[in-house]
Amino acid sequence: MKKPKLRELKEALRAVIVGPVTTKYPFEPHTPPDGFRGKPEFHEDDCIGCGACAEVCPSLSIKVLDMPQSDPPKRRLELRYDKCVFCGQCELNCTTKEGVKLSKEFDLAGLDRSEFVESIEHDLVICEVCGAIVGTIKHLRWVAEQLGAKTYANPTLIILADGSMKLSTPDAGRPGEPTLARSDMMRVMCPACRRTSIVRELWGE
Ligand code: SF4
Ligand code: SF4
Repeated sequence: MKKPKLRELKEALRAVIVGPVTTKYPFEPHTPPDGFRGKPEFHEDDCIGCGACAEVCPSLSIKVLDMPQSDPPKRRLELRYDKCVFCGQCELNCTTKEGVKLSKEFDLAGLDRSEFVESIEHDLVICEVCGAIVGTIKHLRWVAEQLGAKTYANPTLIILADGSMKLSTPDAGRPGEPTLARSDMMRVMCPACRRTSIVRELWGE
């Protein structure tokens, strides 16, 4: 007869003294240990809608859906946890470090895959000149916070950093005309229009 190895004896003795390592789930609730990688969840207070998590997701479980034509313009982030491989890259690379977290929820079975969606919505900022998407309001305000006084180098950030500053009004626009006037400088603009505006201001047409 084969003799038991020392390691197996040690495990058997440990099981007699400490008890089995298995749990009685699902007959009794089970709390996973810290660091367990369960269902990823967005956290509304800390997600700024930047989309960095979608960029790093290896299974393409996170989608960024922009709706610039809706009123108000919205960005929706959808996380399909039926496709998720629970790698934790979204949490690790989240811009704010707290926007998406892998929870301890592990019992995710269901019959309808269309229900396995975690989502969050953000208001979009649209370029007042060309209609391009600049980013989400929360993202731009977060950038302004990080920049501190340097925010004052960018009029779009100045306007968005303090929502109460009405430095430009929608009717101050000059649709169809070049973004040349000085008043256009204090408008919410995408980087391309801002560049064009500055170049025209400095060197003309
Ligand atoms: S803040 Fe984090 S969770 Fe939110 S979109 Fe950016 S990377 Fe994703
Ligand atoms: S845990 Fe990994 S696979 Fe799942 S959503 Fe995050 S990055 Fe994608």
